[in-house]
Amino acid sequence: MAHSDMVLAYIGLGGNLDSGATQPAQTLLQAASELNQLPHSRLIQLSPLYRSVPIGHDDQPDFINAVAALQTRLSAIELLGHLQALEQQHGRQRSPTQRNGPRTLDLDLLLYGQDAEQCIDLPTLQVPHPRLHQRAFVLRPLADIAPALHIPGQGPLSALLSQVSAQVLRQLPADADGNAALK
Ligand code: ADP
Ligand code: MG
Repeated sequence: MAHSDMVLAYIGLGGNLDSGATQPAQTLLQAASELNQLPHSRLIQLSPLYRSVPIGHDDQPDFINAVAALQTRLSAIELLGHLQALEQQHGRQRSPTQRNGPRTLDLDLLLYGQDAEQCIDLPTLQVPHPRLHQRAFVLRPLADIAPALHIPGQGPLSALLSQVSAQVLRQLPADADGNAALK
């Protein structure tokens, strides 16, 4: 397959409920390593992990968040299917009514394309992710791994980030196996 079939996908990882005995930070690291095992895909970067205060429903545990960069030949729709399957494998219960509710694992397709530049507007998939530009817990880890990014329709990542500085976000200390997903 030609090199040009390779695209870059940025994926937001989040979670705030244990999956069995596994805590959210560990679930995220496992999910990152599973992204690396998707067909025709390679994990090329994983941001540090962050702890964030819930938006919307604040009577739930803090979230753990990160962003991964994946090189892939999967189409955006195929990739979304794999992301949803991984969520299910980690015990995700989908609430039809409650957006931003508690979950074991949330995998959002943030950006997609050779230079992460594609715009997709389908009933089941909008890229860039429609709320990414308002969320410090996405913008901060994204800036850690791709500081020069430009978000289609929104502008430079650095400018967006400066607008969400009031949102409380704490970087977790890198632990011994914090980069295990990349190995
Ligand atoms: P949220 O992440 O907004 O809290 P869910 O993870 O339950 O909500 O996703 C709800 C729906 O969002 C999914 O069924 C999916 O079809 C749709 N969706 C649209 N665009 C995207 C995207 N870029 N990444 C992930 N899901 C998306
Ligand atoms: Mg989601």
